[in-house]
Amino acid sequence: MSSRRNFLQKITASAIALQIPDFVLGAPEDASPQEPYEGPVLRVAIMGLGSYGNRVAGAMQSSQKAKLVGAISGTPSKLRDWQSKYGIPEKNCYNYENFDALKDNPDIDAVYIITPNALHKDQAIRVANAGKHVICEKPMSINAKDGQAMIDACKKNNVKLLVGYRMHFEPKTLEIIRRRKEGELGKVLFFQGLCGFIIGDPTQWRLKKELAGGGAMMDIGIYAINGARYMIGEEPIWVTAQETKTNPEKFKPGVDETIQFQLGFPSGAVASCLSTYSLNNLDRFFLNGDKGFAEMLPSTGYGPIKARTNKGELDYPHVTHQTVQMDEMAGIILEGKKPIVPVDGEEGLKDLKIIDAIFLAVKTGKKVPLKL
Ligand code: NDP
Repeated sequence: MSSRRNFLQKITASAIALQIPDFVLGAPEDASPQEPYEGPVLRVAIMGLGSYGNRVAGAMQSSQKAKLVGAISGTPSKLRDWQSKYGIPEKNCYNYENFDALKDNPDIDAVYIITPNALHKDQAIRVANAGKHVICEKPMSINAKDGQAMIDACKKNNVKLLVGYRMHFEPKTLEIIRRRKEGELGKVLFFQGLCGFIIGDPTQWRLKKELAGGGAMMDIGIYAINGARYMIGEEPIWVTAQETKTNPEKFKPGVDETIQFQLGFPSGAVASCLSTYSLNNLDRFFLNGDKGFAEMLPSTGYGPIKARTNKGELDYPHVTHQTVQMDEMAGIILEGKKPIVPVDGEEGLKDLKIIDAIFLAVKTGKKVPLKL
């Protein structure tokens, strides 16, 4: 018997009881082919055909419920490439000047914004004003005020706003959350989130405050913030933070290289986190309760994610995060499905409020209270 079948047999009963989403289980290798999907399909245009936009476009080819039908770019040659690669018609191609005309295009339901962070706000508001659903990459914007403006614009136009939190659909992440909720770890008191990589090209937008809104914290530290919240299962009530900078030439004022921060939660649990652009192989979550622990290493990369608890390794199959994310987001937008961990604008806003507070704590050296 294949280990996958073995695994499926072991978890099927509890999965049914606990309503683990279909994508966690998938289909057994020897099952008969799946019925062709005939339900509603979310027709998506991607804005920003850069590195991550290309990854999402590729992954969306395997989605059942989301289809790539349009593209918005400032680079005409990329639009031509995508037209031939993904069969995108000319009428569904836009640039940053003319994409408000999306309002007259009935063939696009949603726009997935995958551009530099500081551009998200205005682009999301324009997409919402064109009457299209917004999926926006993390960080949703560069501060809570802008995030709130995005939420308000989407509400006003009666469109959904979702944030590209792909880990919220990742099977091992969801299984650890399930076990914590079931009490397997006991009373949770501590989370550690270590997130970083060594950033290369010093001229890239990620190192420009006006486009990135900050440095490592906006880009990679946000995974530790978000992870602390979904792993502990509470909202933090205070934050303290300390910044260190070893290369002020590369990391200019307002662009953080390394920030260590601590979050306090109502139950008394604390999170201790590191966000940096100066260390590779830093991708670890550790959650500890009085009955057990869970470790994810790596915890937020593109996978495979590896996870274990005091009871042993988690034996779940790898899924392509962005494929699952797009299927699930299509379900949320078209069928009103409720994800286990939210991915809406309010969720994105909470992380932005925490980032604002972290920057304030760095500046003042004081403990900053949080009300999410
Ligand atoms: P890239 O630099 O690779 O791509 C960004 C694209 O945005 C560019 O290629 C360009 O596309 C467009 N763009 C529009 N205006 C500008 C500008 N002024 N300067 C630079 N690019 C511009 O970045 P990424 O794809 O890595 O990141 C984009 C977003 O996705 C960020 O918010 C990032 O945080 C997020 N991200 C999320 C990940 C995740 O795992 N969820 C992983 C990686 C990134 P065009 O030429 O088509 O206009």
